[in-house]
Amino acid sequence: MYKIMTPGPTQVRANVLAARARERTNPDLDSEFYDFYRETCQLISSLLHTRHESLILGGEGILGLEAACASLTEPGDRVLVIDNGVFGKGFADFVSLYGGEPILLTTDYRSPVDPEALRTFLKKDHNFKYATLVHCDTPSGVLNDLGKLCPILKEFGLLTVVDSVSASFGEAVRIDESGIDILCGGSQKVVSAPPGLTFVTLSPDALAAMNDRRTPIASFYANLQLFGDYYEKQWFPYTMPIHDIYGLRQALENIQNDPQILERHRLIAEATRTAIVSAGLDLFLTSGHSNTVTVVTVPEETTVSAILDRMKHHHGIMIAGSFDFLDGQVLRIGHMGENANRQDTTETLEALEETLSTLGVPLKTSITEVFHRSLASSELDF
Ligand SMILES: *Cc1c(COP(=O)(O)O)cnc(C)c1O
Repeated sequence: MYKIMTPGPTQVRANVLAARARERTNPDLDSEFYDFYRETCQLISSLLHTRHESLILGGEGILGLEAACASLTEPGDRVLVIDNGVFGKGFADFVSLYGGEPILLTTDYRSPVDPEALRTFLKKDHNFKYATLVHCDTPSGVLNDLGKLCPILKEFGLLTVVDSVSASFGEAVRIDESGIDILCGGSQKVVSAPPGLTFVTLSPDALAAMNDRRTPIASFYANLQLFGDYYEKQWFPYTMPIHDIYGLRQALENIQNDPQILERHRLIAEATRTAIVSAGLDLFLTSGHSNTVTVVTVPEETTVSAILDRMKHHHGIMIAGSFDFLDGQVLRIGHMGENANRQDTTETLEALEETLSTLGVPLKTSITEVFHRSLASSELDF
């Protein structure tokens, strides 16, 4: 078994695994399960600071993104796809699949979307049904500022769809304050449950847009409208993966009982970045680092696969490379959720230090020592 220090899936706490092994009922027929499902959705909404309802869908994170686009897009709709990363750009595919016309606003992939650039763009053209935006674009780790960008989109009358699968709970999310109509999250990143579930929050405006469609939603599995009055009707569009939802509930309660979770992510991430930079390594981004993942440019002396192999086989630790335009270019350390603690991050950085030295990469300082020094003054106990 490896220690999983990847930016999803992350490590899962024993109480989450135990919750998944609980005796089950028939989730289609037992009214207690409808209560349990609804309470779990309400917990998601309250943790994300929204009065909007949430839905848990039986499928990986990608399902949430597709469901948002499937449910909102009608043939011919123009959709603004804000693109400063792989997932950002990827929204264009979902929009096209459902007959929409994606218009890309592409900005620098090494830094967050600049609110003023967005405003300038929208002043010229804001004839869009909705806009898509990624909170943390995980392949590069770039973090977009929802609190600044979403209100600008709302000023111009656009619905906002946000992919926060790899940021929610590790970075602040305030849905109502920011004006987020649909936020998509997933079970296997910061939430630290196993892969398998996605959740979405739905504003009244998003629901109204679905109700006002001229054409039916071109999907069954990705149709958010079908959940309309699941509780009153005691009916789900498909059988809910009950064990996954038991586990998700426990993972969310772990987050609820962890009031310092954002601070913990921030301290671990800052110390990691400081340690990487002092050693003379390069971070991929110029600014806008998410506190959930650190993305390091691969030193020229070696390769991603050499590093990942030694980390895995010599140290028993999994970190990740990346994909798309970053394939072979960067390493990613996922210090999110259960992974964001002093002990696991220390072991990972120790292993990385040994690995890089063995592979002939000169380091200016000890990664681990700087990491420790950076955390030394913090009073958090984690
Ligand atoms: C992980 C992730 C998803 C979901 O992808 P899956 O392959 O379904 O897990 C979506 N968006 C972002 C930004 C992610 O990091």
